[in-house]
Amino acid sequence: MTSFSERVERISISGIREVFEAAGDDAINLGLGQPDFPTPDHARGAAIDAIEAGDTDAYTGNKGTAELREAIAARQGDDLGVPIDPDDVIATAGGSEALHLALEAHVDTGQEVLIPDPGFVAYDALAKLAGGEPVPVPLRDDLTIDPAAIEEAITEDTAAFVVNSPGNPTGTVSSEADVREFARIAREHDVLCVSDEVYAPFVFDGDHRSPLEFERENVVVVDACSKRYSMTGWRLGWVTGASDRIERMLRVHQYVQACASAPAQYAAEAALTGPQGVVDEMRDAYERRRDLVVSGLSEAGLECPTPQGAFYAMPRVPEGFVDECIERGVIVVPGEAFGEHGAGHARISYAASEAELEEALGIIAEAAAAVS
Ligand code: PMP
Repeated sequence: MTSFSERVERISISGIREVFEAAGDDAINLGLGQPDFPTPDHARGAAIDAIEAGDTDAYTGNKGTAELREAIAARQGDDLGVPIDPDDVIATAGGSEALHLALEAHVDTGQEVLIPDPGFVAYDALAKLAGGEPVPVPLRDDLTIDPAAIEEAITEDTAAFVVNSPGNPTGTVSSEADVREFARIAREHDVLCVSDEVYAPFVFDGDHRSPLEFERENVVVVDACSKRYSMTGWRLGWVTGASDRIERMLRVHQYVQACASAPAQYAAEAALTGPQGVVDEMRDAYERRRDLVVSGLSEAGLECPTPQGAFYAMPRVPEGFVDECIERGVIVVPGEAFGEHGAGHARISYAASEAELEEALGIIAEAAAAVS
């Protein structure tokens, strides 16, 4: 008889997929974490050229091509205002693999991983796959990650804590003061801070800050081309951190992946070194949509902390709201898909056109009225 590993039996398919399957084909989908912009032409072109030139036939170095790692180090170093050594970068199969490497290389069986609740669905699953125990840490009432709650949850069994700003599913952005606290906690308690920054370019009010600015040894940063350049399908991300941590993560990456896809690496290099106006355009579009969504939700009587980044809003919603929306043709995701403390909320993704959002907000108001 087939038997399965205890690790895999502890995880299940994400609740988000189930929601999509329940909806009709013509539903407006505000459930996806998928940008609705095309990948920039210069990125696609670079991949096509590399394929035609035969440059993509072989494995690249395990960490990725030198040119890509230089491009990542330069862009990230510039964005965060800290020097990044290209040798301290591993190109991965999306931010997802980067998160996997970070936890796999640092978490021992039974060790605790503190994760934001509500938080991105992969944190809980990847902590379990690494043999660890995810410990959900509730957010503040305004849905920001609370450093005091993280510090309180640390025990002698804590290996790591995960922070994510701008946040999925909340759209909230950590203040500089909070980010400095994440860095201090990582240093003083000597635990790893995994900082998931895949939405970093999409901050509307204030600036994106990273704990890596304030602590180098105990912080690893996960990032990706996925949201930044609308390249989710290319599967190209990266992890940055101290050399000894990179070396350990490389051991895992080498065996599970060998190297990130070569065509995707050429496309990513072009995206990172080419014109960044496309990123500004996306950010401006998300900001306009954010304003539309916030005012629509408030007209619908739904309370929602103003999202300051990414492309999500997470209002408080009455019981039955999510089912009512789906029945009326708008897909949103129930907050509990992101953790126990997500209950009573719904995640609305505004990576959809303004016309779709306007139509959806009308339906959302009707759904809210029907269940209030
Ligand atoms: N982190 C967060 C917070 C995300 O929302 C996502 C994707 N939805 C990822 C990481 C993974 O991104 P990728 O597609 O690059 O694997």
